[in-house]
Amino acid sequence: MPFGSETMSAVQTIADPANEIVSFDPATGAEIGRVNAASADEVLAAVGRSRAAFRSWKKTSFAERKRLVLAAREVILAEMDDIALLISRESGKPVAEALAFEIAPVLDLMRWIANGAEKMLRPRRIGIGLFELLGRFSKIVYQPLGVVAVIPAWNYPFSIPLGEAVMAVMAGNTVVLKPSELTPFVGLRIGEIFEKAGFPPDVVQVVCGAGETGAALVEAPPDKILFTGSVATGKRIAEAAAKNLTSCVLELGGKDPMIVFDDANIELAADAAVWSAFSNSGQNCASVERLYVQRPIAEKLTQKIIDRTLKLKQGSGEREDVSIGAMSSERQLKIVFEHVEEFRDCGAIIETGGRIHVPGFTEPTDDIETAAGFFYEPTVITGATNDMRPMQVETFGPTLPICVFDTEEEAIALANDTEFGLTASVWTRDYAKGRRVAEQIEAGTVCINEHLYTHGIGQTPWGGFKNSGRGRTHGIEGLLELVQPQHIHSNRTALLPDAWWFPYSPAAVDTFRQFATKFATGSLIKTTGMMPQLFTRIKELVRNRRRS
Ligand code: NDP
Repeated sequence: MPFGSETMSAVQTIADPANEIVSFDPATGAEIGRVNAASADEVLAAVGRSRAAFRSWKKTSFAERKRLVLAAREVILAEMDDIALLISRESGKPVAEALAFEIAPVLDLMRWIANGAEKMLRPRRIGIGLFELLGRFSKIVYQPLGVVAVIPAWNYPFSIPLGEAVMAVMAGNTVVLKPSELTPFVGLRIGEIFEKAGFPPDVVQVVCGAGETGAALVEAPPDKILFTGSVATGKRIAEAAAKNLTSCVLELGGKDPMIVFDDANIELAADAAVWSAFSNSGQNCASVERLYVQRPIAEKLTQKIIDRTLKLKQGSGEREDVSIGAMSSERQLKIVFEHVEEFRDCGAIIETGGRIHVPGFTEPTDDIETAAGFFYEPTVITGATNDMRPMQVETFGPTLPICVFDTEEEAIALANDTEFGLTASVWTRDYAKGRRVAEQIEAGTVCINEHLYTHGIGQTPWGGFKNSGRGRTHGIEGLLELVQPQHIHSNRTALLPDAWWFPYSPAAVDTFRQFATKFATGSLIKTTGMMPQLFTRIKELVRNRRRS
């Protein structure tokens, strides 16, 4: 069925008059189904139920939470192929990618967090130096926050929100998830998984809707927001959240560089570049969006990349032999189309690709108005330079612009010449050079001889520098975003008044001077020297108390 723009616009513009969201398969145009968009009142009610559920959920033991998360894992394993197909149908990505980059990593994350959360959140004693000599003791306990709002993008509709929800509930929070309007059924499936695993009602709820439903969730307000999406929406959410002082983790866009030095394993670099730029039709926040190659190997690497790209099979993601599926939306297809046209206009060379194409259905075209589907050919571009606009703004599609550099310093400067800083990679056989360069790249994750896949390692923190985000998901750093540290301080020798209590006096001032010059040095020997003054002061306080 050709995609009529009217039909597809229902997906783009969300709620129709009946307040329904219509979900389509971007590879075939077939309607997947309709769901009601939650109104602001319904969102508020969901947050209210979530807060009520939190009161008992926060008291559950880690063992109980672990049991339920592992039960949810079993549900996913039992329904794996069906879930993979749904992800593929709703997002356009190949079933292979749904399995490899959504289901497998989130199952690994669930096992890790279910087994490890208790240990990572164990109360811990803090060393407080010489205060310990005064019989003082400090420890940190980690308290859950309450209601966590999860607002993800559509590009990883299963693994990102599910992983975040699982980490939130393991920390003792409850969750309200608002999936993207493009992938509501994957979102609802996440809710069903928690339900089938036996989670108590309202611990994890899913509210469907478009941006306004997300905005209502932000304004409810929850106690924390885990947002994944564009810089523009991230700023809007941070602004709205600030009104209630709700803290946010913002996982935003990227323009990730891959730097290939002339001593790199060129075969591996070519394989990795093609996969990291074109998997999920390039709709990865950490896709390679800029490749910088050192001059001596530039021609050779470019040719290998083109050869590999030409062999990729594109088509409906439901076919197991397909590597490049459909793009998720018409809006995204338009952005890619415009960026490639801009590259052309700026004098860059489109080496391969550069057209809208539905394999087996239509001939390649460069006319978006008459296009029959959301497929864009994987596109290799040479002669790109950083002053071209599409080298600065996120494309989020299957394009791979290649630039040439001469020196290490130049490569670092080119890589850092962007508002973004999500991930990057450095390719070299010289690991000392790899580390040296990696540490100078302004990005939340820098890989040496790897790219893109570390979001799939749940133990490692994920998040960006600069406009690519604030805060972290995954890893212990991500878990700590989901709790508030509570400091418990005790005086185990609570017999005498503290020297700094009222009333002040000349003896008090002398004592405080010695606190500054002796105690605050942290030296036990120097502090011993203030003991006579301390006794004088305590005696004074005790005498005062007896008189009163
Ligand atoms: P958007 O910013 O358009 O949307 C993200 C989410 O926010 C969606 O669920 C959207 O709902 C919702 N939303 C939209 N407006 C509001 C609002 N005013 N208040 C609350 N929620 C709102 O991003 P995309 O979905 O287009 O995702 C693509 C972007 O996500 C890219 O920039 C990509 O780099 C980034 N991304 C970042 C990742 C990271 O880890 N750093 C990972 C994955 C993607 P709806 O879709 O229904 O409009």
